[in-house]
Amino acid sequence: MIDYSKMKHTVPPIEAAKRYGSVKHGFMRCPFHADRTPSLKLYSDHFHCFGCGAHGDVIDLAAGLLGCSKAEAAKHLEADFGSVGFVPPLGLAACKCELSRCRSALAPKSPGDVIADGYAEACTLDAWAGYLLDVGASRDETRLVEQKTARLMEGLRD
Ligand SMILES: [Zn+2]
Repeated sequence: MIDYSKMKHTVPPIEAAKRYGSVKHGFMRCPFHADRTPSLKLYSDHFHCFGCGAHGDVIDLAAGLLGCSKAEAAKHLEADFGSVGFVPPLGLAACKCELSRCRSALAPKSPGDVIADGYAEACTLDAWAGYLLDVGASRDETRLVEQKTARLMEGLRD
């Protein structure tokens, strides 16, 4: 059973847009009208097209991009994001903590060791989360760190 309202709040439209289309500076070409230049803007919880006025949530967007019904779009979203998309938000400080742990667990133990998968990303995200904690993060930035952290953790469990 797919929890639609939960999906709407945990899969950011921009992540679905990247997966099912191409995004440039937070905009993409609108699948709901013949859009020549990207006029559909992606927000953390909805999208809006400045060309045709199309507006909706991540499920509407995925349906448009995939050219299928909303029910099918929801199934695609669950298949593609279900394992990482539905984790409760960690918050930036908790992410930083997870990332630091992950970073030291993955760090090469001696010169010549093969660099573990995910190590570079853990370092980058750790530094980024630390920076955002210092300067203050927007909701979008926090959400992005959470998503990336969740995905990294997910990858490491496999
Ligand atoms: Zn449009």
